Amino acid sequence: MILQNWWYTTLMGIKEPVQPPLAGHVKADVLIIGGGAAGLAAALRLMDQGTDVVLLERNICGGSSTGKSAGFLTPDSELDLSQLVRRFGPQGARDLWEVATTGVEIMTSVVKQHSIQCDLVRQDSLFVSNGAAGWKAVQEEAECRKLLGFPCVLYSADEIPSILGSQSYSGAVRYADTFAINPLLYAQGVKQLLMKNGVRIYEAAEVRAIEGRTARTHLGSVTAKEIIFCADKLTPALTTYSWSVYHAQTFLAVSEPLEETDISAMFPEQPLQCWDSDLIYTYYRLTGDRRLLVGGGSLATTYSSNDVTAPRVIDRIIRQLKEKFPCIRHVEFIQYWPGRIDMTRDLLPTVLRDERRPWIHYVLGCVGLPWASFCGDFAARHVLDDVGCDDHKYYRYFSIDRGFLLPVWLEKIVGKEPVFAVNNAWATYYQVDTARKIRYRENRF
Ligand SMILES: Cc1cc2nc3c(=O)[nH]c(=O)nc-3n(C[C@H](O)[C@H](O)[C@H](O)COP(=O)(O)OP(=O)(O)OC[C@H]3O[C@@H](n4cnc5c(N)ncnc54)[C@H](O)[C@@H]3O)c2cc1C
Repeated sequence: MILQNWWYTTLMGIKEPVQPPLAGHVKADVLIIGGGAAGLAAALRLMDQGTDVVLLERNICGGSSTGKSAGFLTPDSELDLSQLVRRFGPQGARDLWEVATTGVEIMTSVVKQHSIQCDLVRQDSLFVSNGAAGWKAVQEEAECRKLLGFPCVLYSADEIPSILGSQSYSGAVRYADTFAINPLLYAQGVKQLLMKNGVRIYEAAEVRAIEGRTARTHLGSVTAKEIIFCADKLTPALTTYSWSVYHAQTFLAVSEPLEETDISAMFPEQPLQCWDSDLIYTYYRLTGDRRLLVGGGSLATTYSSNDVTAPRVIDRIIRQLKEKFPCIRHVEFIQYWPGRIDMTRDLLPTVLRDERRPWIHYVLGCVGLPWASFCGDFAARHVLDDVGCDDHKYYRYFSIDRGFLLPVWLEKIVGKEPVFAVNNAWATYYQVDTARKIRYRENRF
């Protein structure tokens, strides 16, 4: 198994994957910094309105989290519906579920409308449970779906073998209208579409500084009336909001193509995209070209600031998956890669307008491709018309001023990782936001 992102390997088949970096000075109405799911969604919205846009990307479009991801397009990402109901009540959960389902819709509709070749497949989602605690979590998820009128099917342990070739799970909840993609081909396909429609895109063009309305790269600069900042792995040199974002590490591996017999042994009914109920969960799905994609992590590596490139974590995940699915014991995994997801302490994204430089709009810490796509689009809609924008109901959730269990200043004493880990676990299992006042200011969006 070699250390290489499988999605990068699939880029070999496309023409002109890399755009030249920016050289010299250019002007635009809107500058977008970062060509991940968020920046691309912002660019699509502005393209539709005929806005003059420049997009600067440090790597290639999709070259960071987006193009390293597993490509599950489900509303969940890290935020189960039951977690949202507990934190915000049924109406808040409905509002936020709509964020993620709209994000899925943004991505799938552009793929379908423009025939972007990115291995889009429709695949039901299956949240599977480990042990009694997991079964409780799965049942809660099913109850919350019923409460909000979202269809689902609940499976007990003895029903699982009808849909999965495993005897190891204590239950599962399944729902439809979810998808999966090759996320790097998606990003590159959207890039081509944007360029065809006049958006100027520069790759290998890292923004090193923003001075007033001008962003500077190594060889050039862009002056724009408005800036949408969708970059990841922030540094204090580039933005004072870098303190609000953390980076969780996860790992992926892809197998050789599966035989039909292996596929029907693993997924007796039809391929499903699955993840389990552990805090650091394992996830897997079949790609459109019949490879098995598996991902996960460990408690130590998720929160650690050290990047792990050795295969030991993913080796363990593959071993455990094979124990659960004896039918795939002989399957070889050929490539693996690590990645870091930008996230906030409570896993909700932060969207804001800079207080002192209100022409800069930030999209930060989006966990999940759908959330990033929604938030990029949200920021672009505010750039186009912040008064007429009817998205005010989301302000309380996306606000930079919202409260967290442990304050940031504690990081100076105990370090960033422990504060993030405690806040993150608190948000996942205990946080109830309706009990406290969520602060936000209208002029910050
Ligand atoms: C291994 C892994 C698996 C995942 N699996 C899934 C999944 O299955 N489903 C799902 O929904 N989500 C998944 N995620 C999460 C998902 O990938 C992210 O939440 C999402 O891609 C965030 O999109 P984004 O546009 O906000 O950020 P990014 O995709 O990180 O985009 C930010 C962009 O900004 C660029 N940039 C950074 N600094 C600068 C600069 N100074 N100048 C110019 N450009 C800059 C970066 O190169 C990058 O391309 C996964 C993530 C990882 C790492």
